Amino acid sequence: MSNNLLIYNTLSRKKEPFEPINPPHVGLYVCGPTVYGHTHLGHARPAITFDIVFRYLRHLGYKVRYVRNITDVGHLENDADEGEDKISKKARLEQLEPMEIVQQYVSLYRHHMARLNVLMPGIEPLASGHIIEQQQMIKAIIDKGYAYEKNGSVYFNVLKYNQDHHYGVLSGRKIEDLQSNTRALEGQDEKANPLDFALWKKASPEHIMRWPSEWSDGFPGWHLECSAMSTKYLGETFDIHGGGMDLLFPHHECEIAQSMAANGKSQAKYWMHNNMITINGQKMGRSLNNFINLDQFFDGTHKLLEKAYSPMTIRFFMLQAHYTSTLDFSNDALQAAEKGFDRLMKAGETLLTLKPSDQSSVDVKALHEKCYEAMNDNFNTPIVISHLFDAVRTINSIADGNETINAKELELLQSTFNTFVYDVLGLQANEQAAKPSNDLSAQLIDMLLNLRMDAKHKKDFATADAIRDQLTQLGVEIRDKKDGFEWEIK
Ligand code: ZN
Repeated sequence: MSNNLLIYNTLSRKKEPFEPINPPHVGLYVCGPTVYGHTHLGHARPAITFDIVFRYLRHLGYKVRYVRNITDVGHLENDADEGEDKISKKARLEQLEPMEIVQQYVSLYRHHMARLNVLMPGIEPLASGHIIEQQQMIKAIIDKGYAYEKNGSVYFNVLKYNQDHHYGVLSGRKIEDLQSNTRALEGQDEKANPLDFALWKKASPEHIMRWPSEWSDGFPGWHLECSAMSTKYLGETFDIHGGGMDLLFPHHECEIAQSMAANGKSQAKYWMHNNMITINGQKMGRSLNNFINLDQFFDGTHKLLEKAYSPMTIRFFMLQAHYTSTLDFSNDALQAAEKGFDRLMKAGETLLTLKPSDQSSVDVKALHEKCYEAMNDNFNTPIVISHLFDAVRTINSIADGNETINAKELELLQSTFNTFVYDVLGLQANEQAAKPSNDLSAQLIDMLLNLRMDAKHKKDFATADAIRDQLTQLGVEIRDKKDGFEWEIK
């Protein structure tokens, strides 16, 4: 299978022709969310970026095995292997089991991704479901001499690894600089060198998420899950590894080192990183009070927002920037995106009503080729969108009678528009605001909620909760009232 696709490879720092290892199969691994809080823009950008990669590779005819993990254990509060596990902490604060936190936020994440029209990956593995694979990888790394045990914890020996391989191959960081910039933190004297990172941590007595191992009752280091799960599902070397730029160092650098140490092979051929998001020119952060979650965008309920923005406005806005550029969110920019998106969708409707003429005054073939050229140039979605707006102008001027199009050209215009707008960019008309009273699904939702009320009256709370949870997962927001309920499709 041939293609003209160029991918910017973070590893080589240049655009390279895309040559899969075992065509037509392509292995794609993307670092997914750590599920301890609401879905926000920082989750949406990598998900949308790699959704485009997934969609386009499939469009080109590849059989893509797409793995996007869920981190539910081992991600500590800081990168120096210290602090509380993020999920344990949330569980402690909310007095829930860690797995209840995981379940709640995985459901929410999937719900939001569906609203953004992000396709589900083929495999969505949880780190806690792969403890044995992670332990096996630790053993392999110890056997090869690149890790050591200390007081029940196991650490990766970065200096030893760097003697035989290159630690810093992805980030371009030099070991000497890293050493002079990394100071030993208090309580880290277990490490032979401050650069070393944990593969296994012995759990302190109050630590909830723990598993038995030959070293101690403990838990895996955060970086390890991606090396172990990518090897399990995609093999020792696979095609594309992706994630946000914030994961490049140390997470991805450590993944490369672990996989090379255990398997003796490069983990991935191409590394892709999406750039970061800012809000009104500022970095996004909980402490900066600009941490807007996706529900707040969709409802317009955050004080920084002038109005609600639909999931498709958010998606379209993100695609108007190249994934390698930073992207700044502001009300002005979002409202401009909303207008543009509406124009595009209206043109899609107009396109269905166009009638062919005998003569054609437009050149659709050029448009078709330019859209492919843009996608082939490292997934350049903003350029694709600019070509699609040329198509919008053409569609509108044919509709106004200023241009004509023959049947063959009209067919190509429709197929090009449909391919790029709906299949490749994954845009779709905004969800209909619910709820028309004679609509069957509205009646079914009312019926289920009445059954829930009955169950509650009979004190069958398990059934009542199951109905509520499943409707919530389907995007039905339920508000209990004194004398009944209200609902809305989100
Ligand atoms: Zn990862």
